[in-house]
Amino acid sequence: SAHGGPVGRFAPTPSGRMHAGNVFSALMGWLAVRSAGGRVVLRIEDLDPRAQDREVAGLLVDDLRWLGLDWDEGPYFQSDRGGLYLEALRELAPHTYPCFCTRQELHAASAPHASDGTYVYQGTCRGLSPSEVARRSRLRPPATRLRVPDAEDPAAEVRFRDLVFGERRENLARDCGDFIVRRSDGVIAYQLAVVVDDALMGVDLVVRGSDLLGSVARQMYLQDLLGYSHPRYAHVPLLITPEGRRLSKRDHDLDLGYLRSRLAGPEPLIGWLASLVSLAEPGEALSAEALVGRFSWDALRAHPEDVVVGDLPQMLKL
Ligand code: GLU
Repeated sequence: SAHGGPVGRFAPTPSGRMHAGNVFSALMGWLAVRSAGGRVVLRIEDLDPRAQDREVAGLLVDDLRWLGLDWDEGPYFQSDRGGLYLEALRELAPHTYPCFCTRQELHAASAPHASDGTYVYQGTCRGLSPSEVARRSRLRPPATRLRVPDAEDPAAEVRFRDLVFGERRENLARDCGDFIVRRSDGVIAYQLAVVVDDALMGVDLVVRGSDLLGSVARQMYLQDLLGYSHPRYAHVPLLITPEGRRLSKRDHDLDLGYLRSRLAGPEPLIGWLASLVSLAEPGEALSAEALVGRFSWDALRAHPEDVVVGDLPQMLKL
């Protein structure tokens, strides 16, 4: 970017307090940017009405401050930016079509192996005539789907090099299928909003949890259609319990509400998270700032699988 360093972002969804896994991703993203002299944008991803909670958003912002993870721009709220997404949707119109499939129909008619574990859409509503669209629209509002190239079309093949996971490839038709850019309730899909925001905010380094690796191909395809450049991508390991379960916002003993009530400062937590990828010694307590000089992509590359964590309260002696 113009000033030399990368532009990264925090993009939390205010569906609850951050847990240790969210903090780990945020910390790695912040270190990647700060260690390269870059800038951080804060964006609250509150598009879904169920996540439009300004109180939780306020807590997230305060939690980031407490962690010592600062930013240079924002917070932006996606719920304020609907007009920008609609503009992009209009630009995509030649590539989209209305889809009337219900959840049940999708389930029945789909190959169940999309890259994000849901389904590969079989194109049921691709060829509806205008009169059929008009007739069905009177019965229920459609979702908007983006057409992807056919599997044999070279344009369906998306390749990228993730900074942690290395060379990746996905076939949009085979691994994903035509995907939703606007839900039937009118809410803009995550895939579209994130692409518009990253581009308009100048984000050129996306660091986030590896659960989103399967979204990259769709996001790069949208960037191509909208004339945006591709950011670099780095997906970081997820933290999982010894039973193999991903940390979730339901694990309240691992969320920042609990951790902050037990810790005088963030240093034991930051040190423990850094130790998971060998950026700190076990038991070392230190600030995010103190880790800036230690960050390296190699540390993350040495741990490409999910990171199993033990009993966090016990490890932090809470
Ligand atoms: N808002 C998403 C989350 O909280 C992150 C989206 C992204 O980083 O692209 O999981």
